[in-house]
Amino acid sequence: MSILHHMGVRSRMVTLIMATIAPFLALIAAGILFSYSEADRATRRNIASDAELGAAKFSRVFLDAKVVLGTLRGMPPLQASDRARCDGFVQKVLASQPMFVTMGVLDAAGNIVCHNKPDTTGQFGDMELALRMANAGADELLVGRFMIGPVSKKPTVAVAMRLPTTSAGEQLSIFGALNLDVFNHIAQSIVAETNHTVALIDPTNQRVLVRSPTIVPFGTAFPGHPLIEAIAGEPDGGTTFSIGFDDIHRFFGFAPVADATGSSLAVSLGLPEAEAFADVQGRATWAIVLAIVALITAILLSATIAYWTQLRPLVRLVLKSERLGEGKFTSPVTIEGWQAQEFRSLATSLNQTAGKLQAAQEIERKNMETERRFRLVADNTADMITAVDLTGRRTFVSGASRDVLGYEPQELIGRAALDLVHEEDRDRVRELFRRTRDIPDVGAEQYRVTRKDGTLLWVEVSGRRMADESGLVFTMRNISKRKAVEAELEAANSQLLRLATTDELTGINNRRELNRLVELETRRSGREGQPLSVMLIDVDHFKAFNDIYGHVEGDRCLKEIAAAISGAIRRPADSCARYGGEEFAVLLPNTDATGASNRAEVIRRAVASLGIVHSGHQQGHVTISIGVTTAQGELGQSALFEAADQALYVAKAGGRDRVVASALDMRDQFADSGRSSD
Ligand code: GH3
Ligand code: MG
Ligand code: MG
Repeated sequence: MSILHHMGVRSRMVTLIMATIAPFLALIAAGILFSYSEADRATRRNIASDAELGAAKFSRVFLDAKVVLGTLRGMPPLQASDRARCDGFVQKVLASQPMFVTMGVLDAAGNIVCHNKPDTTGQFGDMELALRMANAGADELLVGRFMIGPVSKKPTVAVAMRLPTTSAGEQLSIFGALNLDVFNHIAQSIVAETNHTVALIDPTNQRVLVRSPTIVPFGTAFPGHPLIEAIAGEPDGGTTFSIGFDDIHRFFGFAPVADATGSSLAVSLGLPEAEAFADVQGRATWAIVLAIVALITAILLSATIAYWTQLRPLVRLVLKSERLGEGKFTSPVTIEGWQAQEFRSLATSLNQTAGKLQAAQEIERKNMETERRFRLVADNTADMITAVDLTGRRTFVSGASRDVLGYEPQELIGRAALDLVHEEDRDRVRELFRRTRDIPDVGAEQYRVTRKDGTLLWVEVSGRRMADESGLVFTMRNISKRKAVEAELEAANSQLLRLATTDELTGINNRRELNRLVELETRRSGREGQPLSVMLIDVDHFKAFNDIYGHVEGDRCLKEIAAAISGAIRRPADSCARYGGEEFAVLLPNTDATGASNRAEVIRRAVASLGIVHSGHQQGHVTISIGVTTAQGELGQSALFEAADQALYVAKAGGRDRVVASALDMRDQFADSGRSSD
């Protein structure tokens, strides 16, 4: 499995191609193997039959020998005890039978009793054969073992046959030592015909009697040779693949020499392996070459087709995907019209995705640019800009928050906007929020907020609803300085007002304020039909006071008198003023003549009771004279004061330190009495 992890598309395709071709390769290999085994079988079959044919040729020699010896059996010279005659007969026979090298007769003990070489005696060279003759059948040919003939001194194999029992009861046998050259000729003729190697083998003593082409002397022993072992193991013939006597591997067929009775002689024919498989090898070579050519062609063809139809579009799609991953959305992937439908659909959807992503990227870029510019503006504006969501929490705060509130923007984002508002102003701010939500443009509101350092700050806040209804935007401006200036202005104004209406020395209303009040009250009393009373007060012998005590004391005296007058008037609507010099006036709206006279008397006493020493006054202290007049209905103010002045004159004239009243609704009478008092 881990191999699969590391396999790319290319190696997978090669694997696929190999997998497709593998069965065909296996088929070819199986065919070659089959051809080989078929060739093996055919070779064995052929070599076996060749071996049988070869064995038959060798067998003929033994059959001929049997015929010759069988014919000789009944010949009288062999039976006669005349040695010379026998030797001569045998000699003549041998001359006409070149297949034998020697010929003779043996007695039962294996002694030579007749021989083609006259007068040969002694024991026979193959004593084992001589002894076996005792048990041989009447016309049975027995084959002996390989030997070097004692007389001929040649390598040979003897054959023998029993003679009929002699009249003397003797058991004789005729023998012939075979000429191995005969076998050699047969072998050579087979070699010439078949091109096989030929050997006549005696497995009993593991000797090779004859071998062609000749490489060993007749009768060479090969103890334990695998071919001989194989022949010994299958006396009826067979095949084997083994090493030959020349150390070359061959296919061998072997067959028993049928007529070599009493022996295990066999003939083997050998065929070199190369020769056996020459044909099939040629065919196999061609098959392999063709298979390789087909394989390479198949791989090249299928690899080319796979590349153009699978790999190339796949690689393009993969590259496109990678580019998408890297955020590069341009240059669409092109898949040719003849490519597979699946690739084309994939390319189309990839291109569409890229298009959408590019559009999104463009929007994002624009947004970022807008955002960047907005931040630049917001951060560089002295006013703090705050966005608030519909739950009242800040979602954006501009950098001006550092200057305005002393907070970093991050410290404020996410917190409720109301938190920093002064408790007393919270209701108004809530109202501002509510209005801002409901009305597109609500104007500004001023309230106090707590800065990070704990100080209070006046701010002016104006808000707007966001276009997308996602919240509200507020602009907060520090107006503390303006507020301070405003407060100063207000103080200055009130000071100015006070200065304009107040008498500097006594602190009570001045003449101008008196005029204003009189005008106000006369109009009101005229409107409402209420009485209006006026007093004019003059300090008695004040010139003398000044002369005696000086102006400074005089001023102090005037102050005390003013305070006494002011303290003696009770109603809120009542007012007093310095009329000029050492003269004062008192205005009593809604007060009738009686009330006014009473109040005047109270004032007079209040001043007298100050007890300011006045040595120039016959009473010894400062006193005042008061003229009172009361108007009923609409009346001009000059007339009112003229009447009061005249009453005051009367009071002076009457001896000072007193109150004289005149009622203006009885103006005519008063005028008359005024005139009469003159
Ligand atoms: P009478 O009893 O008749 O009123 O006598 P009088 O001396 O008060 O009369 P008059 O009107 O002749 O004198 C007024 C004096 O009051 C003149 C002036 O010396 C004095 N006086 C007026 N205004 C002031 C002021 O503002 N301060 C001081 N110290 N004296 C003033
Ligand atoms: Mg006066
Ligand atoms: Mg006076």
